[in-house]
Amino acid sequence: MAKPVVSVVKYEDPIRSLKEALELCDGLAGFRKSDKILIKPNIVYWDLDLPFPPFGVVTTSAVVFSLVQILFEEGFRHLMLGEASLPVPKPQGREVYKVLGYEKLRDNYGVELIDFNEEKFVPVDFGDYKLSIAQKALEADKIINVPVLKTHNQCKVSLALKNLKGVLDRKSKMFCHNVQMDLNSTFPRLVEKLPVALNIVDGIFVLERGPAPTGKAYRKNLLLASCDPFAVDLVGAAIMGYRAEEVPHLKYYAGRHGRSTSLAEVAVKGEEIAGHCSYVDYDWEWTAEDTGPAGFMKRGITGIAIRKYDDTLCTGCSAYYNAMLIMLLSAYQGEPFPGIEVVSGKKRLASPGFAKTVLFGKCTCVLNKDNPNIAKAVPIRGCPPDLKRFEKALQEEGINCRYDAYLKYRQYLFDRYKDREVFDLGLYLM
Ligand code: SF4
Repeated sequence: MAKPVVSVVKYEDPIRSLKEALELCDGLAGFRKSDKILIKPNIVYWDLDLPFPPFGVVTTSAVVFSLVQILFEEGFRHLMLGEASLPVPKPQGREVYKVLGYEKLRDNYGVELIDFNEEKFVPVDFGDYKLSIAQKALEADKIINVPVLKTHNQCKVSLALKNLKGVLDRKSKMFCHNVQMDLNSTFPRLVEKLPVALNIVDGIFVLERGPAPTGKAYRKNLLLASCDPFAVDLVGAAIMGYRAEEVPHLKYYAGRHGRSTSLAEVAVKGEEIAGHCSYVDYDWEWTAEDTGPAGFMKRGITGIAIRKYDDTLCTGCSAYYNAMLIMLLSAYQGEPFPGIEVVSGKKRLASPGFAKTVLFGKCTCVLNKDNPNIAKAVPIRGCPPDLKRFEKALQEEGINCRYDAYLKYRQYLFDRYKDREVFDLGLYLM
């Protein structure tokens, strides 16, 4: 059997480089001019209120615009673009498309811009469970999947297979993080139900400790393309320093589909990948005793045990988790915390021996409602929880967490890319 082809091309010119990547893998060979084509970028979320560095987090508009232009020049006229970004606090896909300049795609090329969160979702049977998938994605003749080259603190890498989670409604996304489910064996099955015909990994940047802007981006200047989502993920993972065998969802997919996890089974065209492979870490270091991030320990912070998030924490809570840590850090004034445990997610039970237990998010509030281990609960309800409420609740307990410290941190995350030519916001804001 012929090996699946993955092209790896240096990003030097928006149109020329993408064309080269598509030609090397014959990416448009199976497309008909009459096809309804859905482009699925990765816009996991965007913050319209606070500084948001999108590098390595969101698909660049440069790649999306080049793709649309190439498709248009090739005579494809039925183009759609859809995503279901994190609807926090409400669906805002259209405003985000506006910020990214996507309205020009609509005006100049007739691209239908779809916020899946505002559209119909259809329950799809996966045998032992159902997931609700955006109807527009199911109805497309072909999907062009355009993820980012990034790591993921729960899944190690987030590439083509992972990007498809963005076609699910909010409930189904949460379901993938259910206690009964294994996150790494749910989303890899989505591709079985979707007409994914081409995958383009936007590697203009690579993100360490992704998937959110709390990770650190590096300029990588690569484009990967393949008709085979698993093959492109193998190569993308290798470029970030991971063997497929050590990435649970790739291992699962390989087992389910009788595929090899060996890179030798892929025909790489274009760049030699060996010269582009370098390890980027995917997760935050935690203490061996599970008492909090290593950074807390290094600062000598004691009297608090922040239990590490697990796979049951969905993207909503994950997006605020780091903010919660920063706010706790702001409360540290050199004195030990007064015996606090912080728990989150859907399966972590609070332990005995703490004066106060902070329950971060609705799920852990429900799970620990009658937990006899808890001396004094500090429930932060909400799905996801509200940071201002977190600040207020903690201050009422005498712990001076400050929301403004989080705002400062957000500015810091943004500023660390400022005035650096390679981090060009113009790649996003068209
Ligand atoms: S509270 Fe958090 S973990 Fe629970 S469903 Fe909502 S976002 Fe997910």
